[in-house]
Amino acid sequence: MTTDTLACIGLGANLGNPQAALRAALDDIARLPGSVLLATSPIYRTAPVDATGPDYLNAVALLRTALTPHALLAALQRIEHAHGRERSHRNAPRTLDLDLLLYGDERIESPALTLPHPRLHQRAFVLRPLADVMPAGVIPGLGPIADWLPRVADQRIERLDS
Ligand code: AMP
Repeated sequence: MTTDTLACIGLGANLGNPQAALRAALDDIARLPGSVLLATSPIYRTAPVDATGPDYLNAVALLRTALTPHALLAALQRIEHAHGRERSHRNAPRTLDLDLLLYGDERIESPALTLPHPRLHQRAFVLRPLADVMPAGVIPGLGPIADWLPRVADQRIERLDS
């Protein structure tokens, strides 16, 4: 029996060389202790939502992990900082943003961590790549990912050629 859990991580970048930042972050995620990178979505170009600056590149990684949710979040924050993210203000342009989207079917509301990620069902830049790695996935408390996709159809998102 395994205690490992499936976790989904959202990646975003819109400064510097965003494609290189995403690829480097995926390499780092693949090396997380007690974890196996199972799948990565294509990369998408998306319009900033509630934010300023150039278009974002976004992707989602599917991980099997023995890390706890808080340990995984801390590890993701270390990767963000290693890639020079600057937090001048909320939603400021960023070289790398990593969000813990889903951790199994856990629902958590602690000061440092909310699961599922509170805005994931409102954002095409999360839902589209999430559906790529988990086509039959369900958002705990909210239902199938596929049911939420039509509701974000007005948000600009374009798959990059890989
Ligand atoms: P942001 O600036 O949008 O990347 O938000 C980062 C902050 O959100 C950090 O202080 C985290 O502790 C907090 N946070 C809460 N839930 C999550 C989550 N599911 N994934 C990533 N950050 C989270």
